[in-house]
Amino acid sequence: MADSPIWRPFTQMKTTPEPLKVKRGEGVWLELEDDRRILDCISSWWVTIHGHAHPKLAEALYQQANNLEHVIFAGFTHEPAEQLARKLLKHLPPQLTRVFFSDNGSTAVEVALKMAYQYWRNLGEERTTFITFDGGYHGDTIGAMSVGAGSTWWQKFRSLMFETALVPFPETYDGDLEVDRKEAEALAAIEQFLKQQTIIGIFIEPLVQGAAGMRMCRPQFLQALRKLADQYNVLLIYDEVMTGFGRTGELFACLKSSTAPDIICLSKGLSGGCLPLSVTVATEAIYQAFYQDDPTQAFYHGHSYTGNPLACATGVVSLELLEQNPDGYQKLESLHWKFLDRYLFSNPRLKQFRVCGTIAAMEVKTEEQSGYFNAIAPLLKAKFLESGFLLRPLGDTLYIMPPYCITADELETVYQVIDRTLKNL
Ligand SMILES: *Cc1c(COP(=O)(O)O)cnc(C)c1O
Repeated sequence: MADSPIWRPFTQMKTTPEPLKVKRGEGVWLELEDDRRILDCISSWWVTIHGHAHPKLAEALYQQANNLEHVIFAGFTHEPAEQLARKLLKHLPPQLTRVFFSDNGSTAVEVALKMAYQYWRNLGEERTTFITFDGGYHGDTIGAMSVGAGSTWWQKFRSLMFETALVPFPETYDGDLEVDRKEAEALAAIEQFLKQQTIIGIFIEPLVQGAAGMRMCRPQFLQALRKLADQYNVLLIYDEVMTGFGRTGELFACLKSSTAPDIICLSKGLSGGCLPLSVTVATEAIYQAFYQDDPTQAFYHGHSYTGNPLACATGVVSLELLEQNPDGYQKLESLHWKFLDRYLFSNPRLKQFRVCGTIAAMEVKTEEQSGYFNAIAPLLKAKFLESGFLLRPLGDTLYIMPPYCITADELETVYQVIDRTLKNL
């Protein structure tokens, strides 16, 4: 494919190996053009929660395509969107009542940013600043980059991005003795900003920062954030684009941490990994600030494909699959710990083990500085692929985030290949 015209995402085209051509997928497996089979240990780009080519999702898509492929979402609605919105709300904290559709995680975040900003404007308050976290990743559009200013990729865009109040993220792992201190420091930094500036809200990936390297925080930190947000009357906004739909071992990180945000962004698993789809869900209080006779108080945002019926139809079925089989996402946390103990705790190349639901992560010890551009990542990725495993380290962070249909035996082979590969490095 050296002559392919395609410019690929997050890729230095000059140095990247040729892409592998996938012929078909089934469950956790990807089948390549040359008939090789690859075990997808990271759910593609964290979206494929039920495995590839799920027959129920395929059927939903086919039925819906025969009926209605798309319709303008202003002035019209349709059953798949109505059903999906109602079904979602049943599983979210009851404070969240209004569902705004868009197409991907970044736009769900943009919607949340604009909604939160305009919320205060509509109430007659000019508030300017979001509190954001070191390492936070919220997508690739300008607003999403701005609240993700703590991530490593945006240096070249600095002057286009708006300012935020950046605070430390109290990341922790198994056996961390410093976690109380880290949380206290983060909370103190947040409170400083809450006192000094006109804060719109606190913007966070709850429980797990994904792209930053599966950095995990404790539920009690989110509970402390909720308290601070209430005390200082600012919004708490959860980017659950990655953590949603079972990833943390419960349907949503807000449920796992017993906290309710004022706005939540959902995308990756929403359509079961089939089609681009996202929602931004807000509280009734936020919705009511826009609900007025004055047309200028409305929320002026929308996309050509907003509320696409095909995507919504797969979303409904994906949620049904999660409802029917919670064991799929609930079983993985204990399996991760079991296999970490059996294979990796004793591996001298690894440290800082952590697990949250379906996600397991650890750091590879290297001579180089820790971070996304650590040279160990492409090396390991190539070795895992040679062995038939799709694992894509984020710099020196190695993580496993499989589709929920993975069997215990299949998962065990992932741990075996990691152990073997690192010992032969
Ligand atoms: C992936 C991701 C996004 C961006 O979603 P896209 O669909 O890639 O635009 C935003 N926030 C988080 C936490 C993510 O993991």
